[in-house]
Amino acid sequence: MIRNLWNDLDGTFFPESALDYMPADRLREVQLQRLKAVTALAYERVALFRERMDAKGVKPGDVRTLDDVRLLPFAAKTDLRDTYPYGLFAVPMSEVVRLHASSGTTGKPIVVGYTAPDMEVWKQVIMRTLYAAGFSRGDVVQNMFGYGLFTGGLGLHDGIEGIGATVIPISGGNSERQIMVMKDFGVTAVSCTPSYFIHLIEVAGKLGIDFKRDLKVKRGVFGAEPWTDQMRQFIETASGIKAYDIYGLSEIIGPGVAAECGCQSGLHVFEDHFLVEIVDPKTLEPVPEGQEGELVITTLSKQAMPVIRYRTRDITAIEARPCACGRSIRRIRRISRRSDDMFIIRGVNVFPSQIETALLKTEASLPHYQIVLTRKSGLDRMEVRVEVTGEMLRDRLSEMEGLQRRFAHSIEQITSLHTDVILVQPGTIPRSEGKAKRVLDHRNDSV
Ligand SMILES: [Zn+2]
Repeated sequence: MIRNLWNDLDGTFFPESALDYMPADRLREVQLQRLKAVTALAYERVALFRERMDAKGVKPGDVRTLDDVRLLPFAAKTDLRDTYPYGLFAVPMSEVVRLHASSGTTGKPIVVGYTAPDMEVWKQVIMRTLYAAGFSRGDVVQNMFGYGLFTGGLGLHDGIEGIGATVIPISGGNSERQIMVMKDFGVTAVSCTPSYFIHLIEVAGKLGIDFKRDLKVKRGVFGAEPWTDQMRQFIETASGIKAYDIYGLSEIIGPGVAAECGCQSGLHVFEDHFLVEIVDPKTLEPVPEGQEGELVITTLSKQAMPVIRYRTRDITAIEARPCACGRSIRRIRRISRRSDDMFIIRGVNVFPSQIETALLKTEASLPHYQIVLTRKSGLDRMEVRVEVTGEMLRDRLSEMEGLQRRFAHSIEQITSLHTDVILVQPGTIPRSEGKAKRVLDHRNDSV
């Protein structure tokens, strides 16, 4: 039904979603028009973009086709740090109605700003995100993304209200209270990081609450950290909900860059607002369509802080084949790894998601794990700590050794590395209320 609404954009029923079904040639036209405008805006108002374009001998007028985006210089997270706090803003502060910032663990945070029209765009892309995941008016949504400077909480909040659903702005933390609210308030949908939701499933279990029997939660949108298909399977099986992946980053807008539809086969990019490219992270040249590489995003409608060719460090591919849902906006594959997260051990590139896949392939494992890297006499060692369930700990010692061997074998099959697997008591690996910290790298610590 929504599919036909493109012809009736003045209609009042779900007009935002109709943009997902815009005819492809019209969409490319909109993108090109906006790309030209954003390039001119960045060149005129932002010194960093102007200097870089001048250095390459490129003028905004050189952008004549969408492919001409490749003439433009790249931007990276360091640019936001180096111009802290407002150096990339393209409007005077009197036009900025909202600031957010990253929780910088190293050095200064990065600051992002929004004009009133930027806020409207943000709300709309979140509404499209929620519609794609089947949220609607009548849903009671427990929004457990952190409120405050982090873009997750308030970003989702406006969109949830936008679709006319009921939002519970509870933010993260206090897990027992989360479960109580979920039950007493008749919550039907949730939003948070996938690792936090797994933690909540566990907490509910301890409180004697069965997700499927005692709660009304039917669906959730999860993001802000990479997660695997195995993790989704675990969430859906253990809680009985449908778990949808959402994607975004503060530097671009926050959540609302891309989202899964009911087909759960990749995330639709809201291409009328974001131009995506996939490049080889080493050569920075475009890779053939369908091939994996680093996702690069240009904002097409942001006013306060336009960003040209931002290197996300996220590894994915563009899926150009049409989706069964009928949306014309293209999809990116689920991001299960970031080039930042990769670590090299004994010359082998390893992503935490590979370890996760190996653990979840082995029976009886809960996806609570941590990878600890150490160096002894110049030799790198990888240790994987895995929590086992209470029942398993009561088993015979020989069983435990068997389990340890199976985990190690599964990891070796995927990474070709020998690993020390340590089974630990339930609840001993620190739980995160935001993004999970999967890797502890102690290799450069002084001894
Ligand atoms: Zn779809």
